[in-house]
Amino acid sequence: MIKIDEAMGIIKDQKITWPEEKVDLGDALGRIMVENFSSPLDSPPFNKAAMDGYSVSSGDNSNKYKIMEIIGAGDTPEKTLTMGQCSKIMTGAMMPQGADKIIRVEFADEINGFAVPHTPEPALNVIKQGENLKAGDRVIDAGKLKAKDIGIIASMGFPSVKVAKKPVIGVLTTGSELKNPGEKLETGQIYNSNGLQLSAQVSEFGATPVYYGIIADDREALSTAVAKAFLECDIVILSGGVSKGDYDYVPEVLEENGMKTLFHRVAIKPGRPLLFGRKNNIFVFGLPGNPVSTYVTFEVFVKTLIFHLAGLEYTPPTYSGKLTRRVKRRDTERTEFHPVIINGDKVEPIGYHGSSHLNAMAEANGLIKIPTGVPEFKEGETVSVRSI
Ligand code: AMP
Ligand code: MG
Repeated sequence: MIKIDEAMGIIKDQKITWPEEKVDLGDALGRIMVENFSSPLDSPPFNKAAMDGYSVSSGDNSNKYKIMEIIGAGDTPEKTLTMGQCSKIMTGAMMPQGADKIIRVEFADEINGFAVPHTPEPALNVIKQGENLKAGDRVIDAGKLKAKDIGIIASMGFPSVKVAKKPVIGVLTTGSELKNPGEKLETGQIYNSNGLQLSAQVSEFGATPVYYGIIADDREALSTAVAKAFLECDIVILSGGVSKGDYDYVPEVLEENGMKTLFHRVAIKPGRPLLFGRKNNIFVFGLPGNPVSTYVTFEVFVKTLIFHLAGLEYTPPTYSGKLTRRVKRRDTERTEFHPVIINGDKVEPIGYHGSSHLNAMAEANGLIKIPTGVPEFKEGETVSVRSI
């Protein structure tokens, strides 16, 4: 059994050249961008009106200003202003020469072609060229693209981005006791939750799932399914059959099909039987069948690999807060992931019976990580929460 850091290190040490592609920005949401962007432009690219009103020189305190022209957003101002002159200007428009201030429209009357202020204007109401961003400033780094990132890249004028190819991830659920939702359960059977859960985790993380269904605990059936998945996928994930039971054929069948085991059994809870291997450029995870183990090991290990393929390090979103009650354990040999509810700065540990207790995850929105050797987190202690 190896420690979690060692297992993560083995994943991050894998050498592979992973394909990149250009995609239109409109198709880039959720993709892993592999380039950094610096702005080619000042933002805004010109001195810009922040209000509707009358543009004047801030040094000109005339009682009335002759309106020289009307400037809408997108227009090029034509008149250079001198004392006693203004241009009527709309929000977003370019400021004319000779003006550095806008008297907002509510603070002046328009009489016979003049703007006549009735209320002193305290603000300048102009966004200066480059005030938000200077050309050459680093704006956005490689990583998974969110909607706001798409907006930022668009604002700099780029129509497309370079992203890592989406890995095709095969999902095989093993277990002779499994039935799919919608089917009738016979004695001794349970519903296959991992198949759909894992496929959803793959999709949610921006990769492409290929679901191979339920495979009975049968060497031949398993070998056939594995061989097919090895032909069609970049990453193959199996759930179940990876422990030490009589019918746990996954480790040997994977090796018979040419996979080299890189680690098997990790000091984590849940998920100890976890297996990771490689065949040429195909990576393989054997995840334990208990659904919470499957969920957590995907979250921690598979996500790390997907980012590693793109040449990046995955840093999960984390928050911190104070525990509402203590979390205590006897066995400190493993790194434990415990489901919690984080609400504001309060972190409530969820009562949880172990790795088969999937419904305990219903309310969870985070996981706390209890390192090896640590028996207890005290009530009120500040903990870091990985958002899920
Ligand atoms: P295994 O890892 O195959 O020893 O399975 C461990 C536990 O997880 C057993 O109780 C299985 O019945 C359960 N299990 C295995 N696969 C699934 C699955 N796809 N969906 C739900 N539970 C599963
Ligand atoms: Mg099984």
